Amino acid sequence: MALQPDHPTSAADRDWVASQVAPLTAGEVLSLAFERFGSQAAIATSFGPEDVVLLHLAAQQLGGSSLQVFTIDTGRLPAETFEVMQAVVERFGLALQTLVPNHLAVEDLVRRKGFFSFRDSLEARKECCALRKVEPLSRALAGRRAWITGMRREQSVTRDELPTLQWDAQNGLAKFSPLATWTRAEVWAVIEEERLPYNRLHDVGYPSIGCSPCTRAVRPHEDERAGRWWWESAAHRECGLHRR
Ligand code: SF4
Repeated sequence: MALQPDHPTSAADRDWVASQVAPLTAGEVLSLAFERFGSQAAIATSFGPEDVVLLHLAAQQLGGSSLQVFTIDTGRLPAETFEVMQAVVERFGLALQTLVPNHLAVEDLVRRKGFFSFRDSLEARKECCALRKVEPLSRALAGRRAWITGMRREQSVTRDELPTLQWDAQNGLAKFSPLATWTRAEVWAVIEEERLPYNRLHDVGYPSIGCSPCTRAVRPHEDERAGRWWWESAAHRECGLHRR
């Protein structure tokens, strides 16, 4: 599964990203990613509705078993997320790569700070996300030249300027967000039309689902990610996987 690094091409990839300016459909963005990067483009998924639609569109182009797909099991995910993971893997025939955090780092954090240190401060929360999410992500992206996400602008104030294609300087590769301009209604229309699997927590008020202790249901008229790290200000509600 691990691919060999191809860093000599990164400057050319960065220039290519900057040259791609035409508005494209989600399917065209995926074609662009696969044509340019082939198996060195990986789809990151946390099995939210956008991710499932993205996998559906990608599987239409390459077939599910040919996709490079990874997810991060932080160790704190709700049981319902594993249920939808399994259903999606079976639906598309995915060869899913599942990354887990470094167990020594998790053991050390819990020994020093307990099981809920992320509620102590923003810094403590970022420490937990860095260990359980960001470090596994950096391993998932090592050797890749591009990654593809299901992020949308409408999801929160932290994503309102999200480009469809950008150079991810933090990780040194191209980053595609084919659904950047999609609305929540458009995503759910595809889920319903194609009868795609989805997390059953969405039926009980959870529009965005991450780790169990850091996710709550939202109230009517709250934004989609209001239930993520709800004790923090909206401007901070990202885990470090996606820098603005
Ligand atoms: S979302 Fe919460 S439990 Fe999950 S990694 Fe971040 S702080 Fe830790």
